[in-house]
Amino acid sequence: MNRLDVSIDQHMKNHSGFRRRALLAGLVALPLPALAQAPSPAPGERVPRNVIATVAMVGDVVREISGGRIRAETLIGEGVDPHLFRPTRADIARLLAADAIFANGHRLEGRMGDVLERVAAAGKPVVAIAESLPRERLRANPDYPDAADPHVWMDPTLWADAANAAGAALTRLAPDARESFTDNLARFRARCARLDTYAKEAIGSIPENARVLVTAHDAFSYFGARYGLELESIQGLSTEAEANLSAIEALVRKLVDRRVPAVFAETSVPDRAVRALIEGAGARGHRVALGGNLFSDAMGRPGTYEGTYEGMIDHNVTTIARALGGRVPPRGLNGRLAG
Ligand code: ZN
Repeated sequence: MNRLDVSIDQHMKNHSGFRRRALLAGLVALPLPALAQAPSPAPGERVPRNVIATVAMVGDVVREISGGRIRAETLIGEGVDPHLFRPTRADIARLLAADAIFANGHRLEGRMGDVLERVAAAGKPVVAIAESLPRERLRANPDYPDAADPHVWMDPTLWADAANAAGAALTRLAPDARESFTDNLARFRARCARLDTYAKEAIGSIPENARVLVTAHDAFSYFGARYGLELESIQGLSTEAEANLSAIEALVRKLVDRRVPAVFAETSVPDRAVRALIEGAGARGHRVALGGNLFSDAMGRPGTYEGTYEGMIDHNVTTIARALGGRVPPRGLNGRLAG
């Protein structure tokens, strides 16, 4: 196995490593440095001081709903693969010191299962927001039939519903703020609905033959199902080098036959296999572009538009649609995407 295979293989194994029950217990918190200047609570309002979210997408939901009333930090940073993330001693101390922890769940935080279980056993609320979604809306994890695909944030309609669970948990933490949390949740859900409409139009403008999304890993199945993109990822091809080569060869054939103009890298996964596809297609006389870097399991830099959930999905939709021949505004849904 080469390094890429090992890393992809670990990634998949980690999808299975999550201990689900640890996350069923309760609530999560997000400590975000950007929230240092959070508005003061109203007199008499009891607010938890310190919540931690595992990943940035969950942190964004908590921040949006709490409207800055709850200081939330994200444990797993920009460009870091949550499947592979192992908390340090200092991280564990932070988790134990938090008032609550918010996670995605469904084995996304693969190597944190034990830790989250311990934290929950210590009486800390741990809330896995994706695990609040009804099973029939979840997609299978082909490698682990007992688990659901954890990448639910890729479908904004699903993420809006997962946000309900965050809203309920935050309200349990700070009952006095119920009204403002309810308003903020409604605004967040409206933004998700707007993203969904935009994605339908943008992806729908891609010529039909080119509606193929080729990425390094399997994070986009909810996205593809929602917006009508055929999905190919290199991630499943991880067990041995030869299978890997023949699968890459099959993908190259598809790119050439369908005249697919672009494939995509991800900010949190190595892109070597994606580059192999581009070279393979080039050798057959079909030029495939690297369509850009997509945010799969991590968002952009904190403090930027791409560092928000809305910006992350806008970036992905706009990047994919443009590279595959669709029509999108130059700077995305809100005119805020970086050049
Ligand atoms: Zn993933």
